[in-house]
Amino acid sequence: MLSPRPRIRQLQEYHPPLSRRTGMRLDFNENTVGCSPRVLQRLTQITAEDLARYPEREPVETLAAQHLNLAPEQVLLTNGVDEAIHLLCEAYLEAGDEVLVVAPTFSMYEIYAAATCAQVTRVQCESDFAFPLTKILCRLTPATRMIAIASPNNPTGSVAAREQLLQIANTAPDAAVLVDEAYYEFHGQTVLPEIDAAGNLFVARTFSKAYGLAGLRIGMLCGSRQHMPALRRISSPYNVNAVALIALPTALADREYVDAYAEQIKQGRERLACELRQHGIPYWPSQANFLLVKVGAMHREFVAAIRQRGILLRDRSADPGCEGCVRITIGTGAQMEQLIGALREVWAETKRQAGVTT
Ligand code: PMP
Repeated sequence: MLSPRPRIRQLQEYHPPLSRRTGMRLDFNENTVGCSPRVLQRLTQITAEDLARYPEREPVETLAAQHLNLAPEQVLLTNGVDEAIHLLCEAYLEAGDEVLVVAPTFSMYEIYAAATCAQVTRVQCESDFAFPLTKILCRLTPATRMIAIASPNNPTGSVAAREQLLQIANTAPDAAVLVDEAYYEFHGQTVLPEIDAAGNLFVARTFSKAYGLAGLRIGMLCGSRQHMPALRRISSPYNVNAVALIALPTALADREYVDAYAEQIKQGRERLACELRQHGIPYWPSQANFLLVKVGAMHREFVAAIRQRGILLRDRSADPGCEGCVRITIGTGAQMEQLIGALREVWAETKRQAGVTT
């Protein structure tokens, strides 16, 4: 009888809650208004010929490398950061290897790592969600083959400093250190210039967030000249589709659009944080396009009540260390005003129901 490997039989399917997403999308950390109009315009010019051909990744990869000030050999375009993670796991992990992930964090590291026969160890953050450098260093063993770090982290928005990341890469030269910079545009700090000096460092970027292209599935994996050939060997030559490859040069060229969007988001983040402080609702400082907010025991009712007002949020209560927490994607100024209006009504009701008096 055909049967999947034992490890695969143990895995659960991952179903992000994508159905019935009508309303203001503050649930998946996407761009809340969409991509550059110039990208949409370029897509209207797609021809049948463009779609009939197999997609050619290399010329666009060269452009992407130029955009990052890297050599083409250092950059691989991927089917989102998800594929970048998958490729790293496939290239480096085998039975007996250990993978360190921060908890809480983006779930795909653990899923792809667990699908190989590697052992995943979660390094739990303290309640301030600061990057757990010391704990990570303590958990390194000769079997540690990968360390996956999102900076800014999802769902907390906290960051790891450049020196901390380099210290990990230097202390664990036999491990692939993935720094997932999916939210780079909202933070502005990167370890990309270090990838040649620290040969075991990889940096992933995405066009799903600030660029507003989550539906096209395109990201980048960057690494040293020494290590990228292994990843290229195992990626499909057609991993990025023709539509995404057609959109990308225009998306990269319209830098002003992404910069202006990121600027609006930083302002919106501060506006929401200020409102939360006024209500005494705890939240964690974030360098990404979302805030993790501690709503408390009424988190389900809170998300449902905001949804009734046409705004989608993501309940993160089940994440390790996130009991009672809801993640709110930041949108434009007008969107934040609408959210704040809903929040004022719902928070007053939540407090009333919880029997708290002010
Ligand atoms: N990394 C992090 C830290 C994320 O939060 C997400 C999306 N939630 C991704 C990667 C996924 O990126 P992509 O859409 O490029 O696969």
